[in-house]
Amino acid sequence: YGYVPLTNVRSHSNGLCVLSGGVGGAKLVVGLSKVLKSTEFLVVVNTGDDFHHLGLKICPDIDTVTYTLADLVDQERGWGLKDETWNFLNNLKGLGGDGWFNLGDKDLATHVERTQRLARGDTLTSVTKAFASSLGVSSMIVPMTNDPVSTIVETSEEHLAFQHYFVRDRCLPEVKGFHFHGIGAAKSNPLISEYCEGNNNAAIVLAPSNPFVSIDPILGVPGLKDRLLSVKGPKIAISPIINGGAVKGPAAKMMEELGIPSTAMAIANHYKGFIDALVIDHSDSKLFEEIEDTGIKVFITNTVMRTLENKVVLANECLNYIDQFWEDKW
Ligand code: GDP
Repeated sequence: YGYVPLTNVRSHSNGLCVLSGGVGGAKLVVGLSKVLKSTEFLVVVNTGDDFHHLGLKICPDIDTVTYTLADLVDQERGWGLKDETWNFLNNLKGLGGDGWFNLGDKDLATHVERTQRLARGDTLTSVTKAFASSLGVSSMIVPMTNDPVSTIVETSEEHLAFQHYFVRDRCLPEVKGFHFHGIGAAKSNPLISEYCEGNNNAAIVLAPSNPFVSIDPILGVPGLKDRLLSVKGPKIAISPIINGGAVKGPAAKMMEELGIPSTAMAIANHYKGFIDALVIDHSDSKLFEEIEDTGIKVFITNTVMRTLENKVVLANECLNYIDQFWEDKW
């Protein structure tokens, strides 16, 4: 690839709105943050994973995105803070407390302070912004809504709150479907509509996040999907499925259990009607024609983001595709 610039070198004045879950989304967002100014893109984060635990309001995806942008994330795990200690959790377990959810000592401060501020009447948006700013992150990170929405995983046995499925039960139960409790009454974050208003040619990018439990809740907030569709820029997704598998997490397992092949083709079908283009990995290039036959344009590049350079290159590629759209080269 030659020289990869690692700081804000591009201008993207049309704006860009990226929809993100946690770990997969944060990797792309970090790439974008290295090539765009923080005022040039909006990160809309899933809050369906949010829940209350030990009296605390926990927002896993918001924290993952914020910690990642602050360069504080534990690289190995992809979530939580680096150099974390676990004294609180170990003592809690020693007392017979509810210790299944991993709360590190440093991380705990985020949840305690967020819970306090929300109880005082602050919105999740303002708390998110304040925490990002305290951690030196200037990117605009906004929750999809300020209202409570809870992703419920329907399994063959029972309905499980998302974190019970994901963390406590380690994604073992067989998935039958999903629903998003509270979503009907949720109002989309006004900052998203405001952003679309001010950036009528913005591109919409679906990060390589879990389609069912990270992106679908965002697109399911009443009115949000149509608002995003109404902007004039291209709508592009990056497939979280590479060569028939997920890079991390249960996306491929979920697809199999739902009777959907775990392929980039199935990702195209899932987002059909919303996206204009899908970015797939070189290892899936054989799917090019099949996907393009659905009317979705396909871009092939390296979508595995292991290093910072991978993230920056993929973000740059996405910006190239967007530029090409405006140059009528699609
Ligand atoms: P979570 O909310 O923490 O589960 O994270 P996300 O929903 O944002 O991301 C999970 C998805 O990201 C999984 O389906 C992974 O396959 C995908 N993912 C993780 N890392 C990468 C990567 O480097 N490249 C691509 N294309 N997908 C990735």
